[in-house]
Amino acid sequence: MKPTVVDHIGIAVKSIDEALAFWQSSLGIQCTGVEEVAEQKVKTAFLPIGDTEVELLEATSDESPVAKFIEKKGEGIHHLAIRVDNLEKALEEMKAKGIKLIDESPRYGAGGAKIAFVHPKSTGGILLELSER
Ligand code: ZN
Repeated sequence: MKPTVVDHIGIAVKSIDEALAFWQSSLGIQCTGVEEVAEQKVKTAFLPIGDTEVELLEATSDESPVAKFIEKKGEGIHHLAIRVDNLEKALEEMKAKGIKLIDESPRYGAGGAKIAFVHPKSTGGILLELSER
């Protein structure tokens, strides 16, 4: 596995519109697009900063993992995503090392990326996303 860059940092927000007011107006970072990922019941907005992006996540249903996260912990940093060159291979390597995965095989993420989540129990408490673009 070859991690190449911090792909993005996911931030759970109650309202993307309200969060964008801060990120765009106060920080001057332009949003490159809002996309709904139905499978994960979230709406996402990406704000690039250099090679990395901030991903705002808004739940589209009470059943969304993001809604549950906000209910438990409030708004804030939800996950860290690192980019890998070959996601299938990265997952196989991690499985072989006994690392607990949430997604054993890649699934579709925002922006056409292939993604998979690694369980916080194996990462020291953070939700880690592996992403291949
Ligand atoms: Zn993400």
